Amino acid sequence: MSEVNLKCACGTVTGKTLAVSSRIGTRITCCCDDCQVFAQFLGQEGKVLDQYGGTDILQIPVSHLTISEGKSEISCVRFSPKGMYRWYAKCCNTPIGNTFGAGGPFIGIIHSFMDKATTSEVDLGKNRGHILTKFAKTPVPENLKGSSLSINFRVVTKILSWKLKGLNKPSEFFNNNAEPICEPQILDKKAQNS
Ligand SMILES: [Zn+2]
Ligand SMILES: [Zn+2]
Repeated sequence: MSEVNLKCACGTVTGKTLAVSSRIGTRITCCCDDCQVFAQFLGQEGKVLDQYGGTDILQIPVSHLTISEGKSEISCVRFSPKGMYRWYAKCCNTPIGNTFGAGGPFIGIIHSFMDKATTSEVDLGKNRGHILTKFAKTPVPENLKGSSLSINFRVVTKILSWKLKGLNKPSEFFNNNAEPICEPQILDKKAQNS
């Protein structure tokens, strides 16, 4: 178990996680259209998406993440009024991660926000595979596809247990009044694509 050091591409926003292990976190590669639009919105497809359009994400309790520097550079976008909160570092358009609202106990940290130089040896757990592959840009080979049944079961049980343990707080992204730290920009992704 080790901490993961977090850093945007330009180094302005930094932070870390509590020690993670494959037991705590769930690592998946999400091919959903919203994750792809997020990378496109930031002009980071080349750095964030794999050849299938998938985004490598580590889900951990949101209270396990702290931001040490550059918090004022954090910005947020949602692709519908009820969509996920998608956080990024506006200094250099590095995707940070995805959360639900203030009560949601998890964050999906996007690999681009991990400081690869210092965390390359950290065991993040095996990637459980590509999910939501119907949105993939090119067909995902069967051996890379995750079992959606077991991944869904794991994710839902984790989220429920984190919620019961109150791991939605403290959050770097929502204040004590359950308000986001910055006003999310709400974009219609259909308008984005056209
Ligand atoms: Zn930056
Ligand atoms: Zn996704």
